Amino acid sequence: MSGELEHVKCLIIGSGPAGYTAAIYASRADLKPVLYTGMLSGGQLTQTTEVENYPGYPDGILGPEMMQNFEKQASRLGTDIRFGYVSSVDFSSLPHKVVVDESKTILADTVIISTGASAKWLGLESEQKYNGFGVSACAVCDGFFFRGQDVAIVGAGDTAAEEATYLAKLCRKVYMLVRRDEFRASKAMVHRVLNTPNIEVIYNTETKEIVGDGQVVTGVKVINNQTNEDKTLDVTGFFVAIGHHPNTEIFRGWIHMDETGYIITKPGSSETNIEGVFACGDAQDHIYRQAVTAAGSGCMAAIDAERYLAAKEHVVTA
Ligand code: NDP
Repeated sequence: MSGELEHVKCLIIGSGPAGYTAAIYASRADLKPVLYTGMLSGGQLTQTTEVENYPGYPDGILGPEMMQNFEKQASRLGTDIRFGYVSSVDFSSLPHKVVVDESKTILADTVIISTGASAKWLGLESEQKYNGFGVSACAVCDGFFFRGQDVAIVGAGDTAAEEATYLAKLCRKVYMLVRRDEFRASKAMVHRVLNTPNIEVIYNTETKEIVGDGQVVTGVKVINNQTNEDKTLDVTGFFVAIGHHPNTEIFRGWIHMDETGYIITKPGSSETNIEGVFACGDAQDHIYRQAVTAAGSGCMAAIDAERYLAAKEHVVTA
């Protein structure tokens, strides 16, 4: 650990609903929080369209706009919001050491982890090869480039259903590749998909390869996992919407996690196994994964951090 040093009371890592809510509460508790946004400032909601299920917005709100509001509120209350990513941590002694952008070390009395989750990929070589050249994990970000064209989307959850209907508004045809004979998505979302004329759902189907001309995507080879029949769909865009994994790799070895990397917190609290380190949002929640539950857990983390610091101060001054 070298370079510039700075001591803070409360360091928040991540800028989704959990991180910003923690920031709002920590600011109001006078913890003078510093928040590092991570590479995707605003988190996953900046890659979505309409959010209709966040209380307080009777007409719904666009995800990016909602995240701007979170940021404004945290900033107005005094959070020091900085663009940067945490590259490593050392939780072996107090204060905790957190390295930002591989150069600057922050000494933090408390750390709130709200690093969220990221999109999963199929793991095909061709998927990597054409990533950004026809392959995308975000229909809302990249759908625009495929206006009037034919595309495919893989996945059968709410994300895939939402993104398929979004793409259907822009594209001529959307093939939806579902690996089982049914969806995982909610009934309402499935209904929407099945009632969109230019979406063709292809069940029991897996992706074998994304085909291209060396530069861009020209098709996708799929196989029916019941009949073993394969075929190539002529598409110029291939969207992956098969879920997410938690962004917790940098904490491995320090923080207790489950086998898929979700941080384990003490039931009913945001406490981790390390004193003064708290976790909230999708980084520790594989069950609910909603903006509102993330925000709620961010509030818990800030309150836990504040109480932890107050208890320590009490011991020192008593
Ligand atoms: P999910 O984990 O719910 O769904 C992932 C989907 O991808 C499943 O259908 C799964 O298939 C499929 N899948 C996984 N791996 C592969 C693979 N290798 N090949 C093909 N298909 C694959 O993730 P989501 O991102 O859709 O949703 C996450 C959470 O967020 C959910 O709780 C969801 O309800 C919520 N959400 C809510 C929204 C809303 O309310 N507006 C919008 C978006 C998400 P299988 O079913 O066979 O396992």
